[in-house]
Amino acid sequence: MSDRSRQLYEEASKLMPGGVSSPVRAFRPYPRYISRGKGSRIFDVDGREYIDHCMAFGPLILGHAHPSVVRAVQEQAESGTLYGAPVEDEVRFAEAIVRNYPSIEMLRVVSTGTEATMHALRLARGYTGRSKVLKFEGCFHGAHDAVLVKAGSGATTHSAPNSLGVLEEVARNTLLALYNDLSSAASALDANKGEVAAIIVEPVMGNIGPVLPREGFLQGLRDLATEHGALLIFDEVITGFRLSMGGAQRLFGVTPDITTLGKIAGGGMPIGVFGASREIMEMVSPMGKVYQAGTFSGNPMSLAAGLATIKELEAQGHDGLDRKGDLLRRGLSEALRGSKVPHQVAGIGSMFQLFLSSRPVINYRDALGTDTALFDRMFLRLLDKGVYLAPSQFETNFLSTAHSEEDVRRVVDAIAEALAEVSS
Ligand SMILES: *Cc1c(COP(=O)(O)O)cnc(C)c1O
Repeated sequence: MSDRSRQLYEEASKLMPGGVSSPVRAFRPYPRYISRGKGSRIFDVDGREYIDHCMAFGPLILGHAHPSVVRAVQEQAESGTLYGAPVEDEVRFAEAIVRNYPSIEMLRVVSTGTEATMHALRLARGYTGRSKVLKFEGCFHGAHDAVLVKAGSGATTHSAPNSLGVLEEVARNTLLALYNDLSSAASALDANKGEVAAIIVEPVMGNIGPVLPREGFLQGLRDLATEHGALLIFDEVITGFRLSMGGAQRLFGVTPDITTLGKIAGGGMPIGVFGASREIMEMVSPMGKVYQAGTFSGNPMSLAAGLATIKELEAQGHDGLDRKGDLLRRGLSEALRGSKVPHQVAGIGSMFQLFLSSRPVINYRDALGTDTALFDRMFLRLLDKGVYLAPSQFETNFLSTAHSEEDVRRVVDAIAEALAEVSS
């Protein structure tokens, strides 16, 4: 068996920190280099095939290389990739967002989720004239300074919850509360009366694995924000277009002031979106005094892929996808019923994770109590069995419309076998 991934990784390690372009992709002993993806499958440079549940960490809700997305991107590329001038797809894309998210009357399209939350927070500060923001431990909102405080995803996996280089005076303006604990949010707001510009939250946490909001939690945040004159920001970069066409806000019936989108909205191309009421969005340049700009903002390639994805999803609906998620979670629960390994099957819709823990994970602190060493062994064993999960306990796995029920059954069996093998 050739080992081209290992060779490439050795070369890459001399050229890039950790051999990767984003830390979440690094794992020991070496990451697999992918040469191709189609539907639910990816293929590595050594010719191995995997059922993929990482799905690029969320964007690929239609699977790899979906024909209508490929066609849209090809057609756009042949007409040029970027003009630095507006295009019709921009208007159609904005219509598609507004049609699906009643909380959004106007929006701006940027290039990443990180940019979207950075601008959403700046906008909230500009609009309210206040400095502080409240975030929740374990929620990840991208890799910019204001939100790199007890962030999830790679910032937890790689034990760097607070990055060097984030200024003390910046971090001081980021208040923390516990997810699913309204009283912790209320205390933080009370202690900083009249100073909090925004509460930012993942309505369903996705970046320490999927964690659902308890009954009343999101509505409670809505009420607290209103009471304190702060804006409520739902970071739906993962949940937007995944939990429903209208994201978590439609599913749970709670309306934020500002929404950020990304991942699926770009159909596998780079994108970020922030949107809100007309009144709030009119603060943004060139209408208002909150600045935002970007060479690649609203770029035609991302708009083409995003529009193709949204149209396909609007036609298909989420029922089939959610049903496969239920099948997978139910299957896992049954397959692991007799297991001696403490575990929790978690998720919603097409999001899932197996937490290796004896108690339910309802916040960041619970997630830190999981058996990550065992998870890592299970993850590697699953690679040998042709299943590619997201490479950390602190991530969410995703289903796409391209996954079949047969894929789901194979994955359930593989996870049960792998866990038994690595824990004995
Ligand atoms: C992925 C993610 C981001 C960052 O998006 P990028 O496109 O990676 O910059 C922000 N918020 C949430 C909830 C995310 O999952």
